[in-house]
Amino acid sequence: MTEQTSSDKAPKAQKINGVRGMNDLLPGDAAQWFHLEHVFRDLTRAYGYEFLRTPIVEATAVFQRGIGEVTDIVEKEMYSFEDRLNGEQLTLRPEGTAALVRAVIENNLLYEGPKRLWYSGPMFRHERPQRGRYRQFHQFGIEALGFAGPDIDAEIILMGQRLWDELGLKGVRLEINSLGQAPERAEHRAALVVYFEQHRDLLDEDSVRRLGTNPLRILDSKNPAMQELIEGAPKLLDFLGEESLKHFEGVQTLLKANNIPCKINPRLVRGLDYYNLTVFEWITEELGAQGTIAGGGRYDPLIERMGGKAATACGWAMGMERVLELMKVSGSLPEPQAQCDVFVLHQGGETLITALVVAERLRSAGIDVILFCPADGQTASFKSQMKKADASGASYAVIIGPDELAKNEAQLKDLRGTGNQQAIPLDGVVEGVIDAIVGATE
Ligand code: ATP
Ligand code: MG
Repeated sequence: MTEQTSSDKAPKAQKINGVRGMNDLLPGDAAQWFHLEHVFRDLTRAYGYEFLRTPIVEATAVFQRGIGEVTDIVEKEMYSFEDRLNGEQLTLRPEGTAALVRAVIENNLLYEGPKRLWYSGPMFRHERPQRGRYRQFHQFGIEALGFAGPDIDAEIILMGQRLWDELGLKGVRLEINSLGQAPERAEHRAALVVYFEQHRDLLDEDSVRRLGTNPLRILDSKNPAMQELIEGAPKLLDFLGEESLKHFEGVQTLLKANNIPCKINPRLVRGLDYYNLTVFEWITEELGAQGTIAGGGRYDPLIERMGGKAATACGWAMGMERVLELMKVSGSLPEPQAQCDVFVLHQGGETLITALVVAERLRSAGIDVILFCPADGQTASFKSQMKKADASGASYAVIIGPDELAKNEAQLKDLRGTGNQQAIPLDGVVEGVIDAIVGATE
């Protein structure tokens, strides 16, 4: 028999990496996400919004029709594919609203009247990954369907403001605009086309293309060379009729009454096709180029366009990664919490059996427990177990060795406060731990 050399061994398997722009949520960051989710659950409950979850995959038509063909998302950012088992055209959802509206229509949810809804989950867009811009990112969003007045526009904006306050975000400003109604936009669009045609030589390549497809989007251009030209373009606000102005003023009055400062930005048009009347964004200077943490507005035409009975609607969506980043910058991320209350140590064999029973009893009493589990399946010295107990963040250690077992006892050690250690009867461990916790908080 020949001795095996390292060269005889199978080659080390190559590791496989995750997809670019799609991130793992690692244990060290989980508490921040849970905190964020907890805060919006409370927020939506405070305003009477109900949760609705749609699947991550939808028929591609949902987004083509819902978002509009001539938008960045549909033109170049969607993960669309054919299901090779049945030929269906499918898309990983790039945003929440079109899918939610699909679900509302399909399940006839507006049958009994208007609905306040919220959602949260991963979205997918094929963009260039960079700080604050990922290919899988996560949104939290709210949608109020079937309400026509400016009061609901104001309500959802107030919810946003309350959310930033709860999360301790600093330096978030609100910009709003009105996109009016379709005929007003048509008039404005005609004036825009005339204006940009007159200055065609100053347009960049993207804008020339948009002139023929969606000239409003030219106003969205970030190209510094075009800013002066855009500044001088006809403003949609000047084309709004009485009704649209009244709605816009109504929203502003309600915001003012609640001390919500906002800036009217006539160039705010939002990327998606489905908006009308009020649109808005919350922006920060703290995150570099990806400074919009949330945005939304009214989208009255969408429900009918998706095949439902005409109904008004408005909502907004927030990027969770950007908000967490801003919380970090604002110093308002929650402190990492200890993982458990009690760490249980033992020496294997009979002591392990008893330790497991004790750990289960503690958990039944609502106490969080980590039971020592040796990596090699054998056992370890109390000294090395105690290091693990310290690192776990536990407040107390319960130690069950052969000596303790022989006396029907356990040792209870305070790991944070006094460092005291005392013997307690095995069948009184739950009471002993509770007494110690209560004593420490008094
Ligand atoms: P941007 O102008 O930054 O591309 P958007 O107008 O495309 O944003 P919306 O469709 O309004 O964004 O989505 C709402 C929010 O979702 C954004 O304000 C942002 O916080 C977040 N978001 C959008 N795209 C991404 C992305 N690729 N990665 C991380 N967050 C994103
Ligand atoms: Mg975008």
